[in-house]
Amino acid sequence: MAGNGRVGVLALQGDFREHIAVLRQLGADAVPVKRPEELASVSGLVIPGGESSVLDKLSRLFGMADPLKAAISSGLPVYGTCAGLIMIADTILDSIDGQQNLGGLDVVVRRNAFGSQRDSFETDLDIPVLGQPPVHAVFIRAPVVESVGQKATALARLADGRVVAVEQGNLLGTSFHPEMTGDTRFHEYFLKKIAAS
Ligand code: GLN
Repeated sequence: MAGNGRVGVLALQGDFREHIAVLRQLGADAVPVKRPEELASVSGLVIPGGESSVLDKLSRLFGMADPLKAAISSGLPVYGTCAGLIMIADTILDSIDGQQNLGGLDVVVRRNAFGSQRDSFETDLDIPVLGQPPVHAVFIRAPVVESVGQKATALARLADGRVVAVEQGNLLGTSFHPEMTGDTRFHEYFLKKIAAS
C-alpha cells in the first residue's frame, strides 16, 4: 500500500477540514492534499463537498486534474461527497459552461438536483452495507445520481427511489455530507476499503 495508510483530503476548496477531523478521530493519518507530490504520498483520497465548478477550475489551475485522473484510473481509493461525487462521476448534468470532471465512476449525476425550494434537507437513509441504525443524511444543494451504470452499484436511495450513494471498486460517492453529522460509518467504510486495497 502506498503512503503507509495515509489518507488525503483534497484541500482546494470546500469542507476539507471537517473530513480531516473525522478521519483523525478514527485514528487515521489524515492530511490535506493540494499538490501532486502530496497526492502521491497518500493511499486514499476524500474529495469534499463545496462547489464542483470551483473544484474543477482550481484542480486544473493547481495542476491536479491530470494527476487525480491518473490516480483514479490506477485504482486509488477515492471517496467523493456531494461536489466530490460530481467530480468523480463520468457524466454531469446541469454543469456550468466548460465544467470538466475527473470521471471514473460509471454514473450520471445531476447538480443541484433538488432545486432552490429544497436547497437543503435532512433525512434518514437505510444503507444495507452500513447496517442499523439508518444513516442521518444532510443534503446541501446536493446532486442526485440519475443513472447507475453497469460498473457501479447503488448503496442508498431516497424514499422516492432516487440514488444518493454509490460504490464501484475503490470508488465511493455520496450526495450528502457524513462529515457533518457525527456518524462516522461512511468514513470507517472508506478506511476499510483503503486497508483492503
Ligand atoms: N451544488 C454544489 C456543486 O454543484 C455541491 C454542493 C455541496 O457540495 N454541498 O458542486
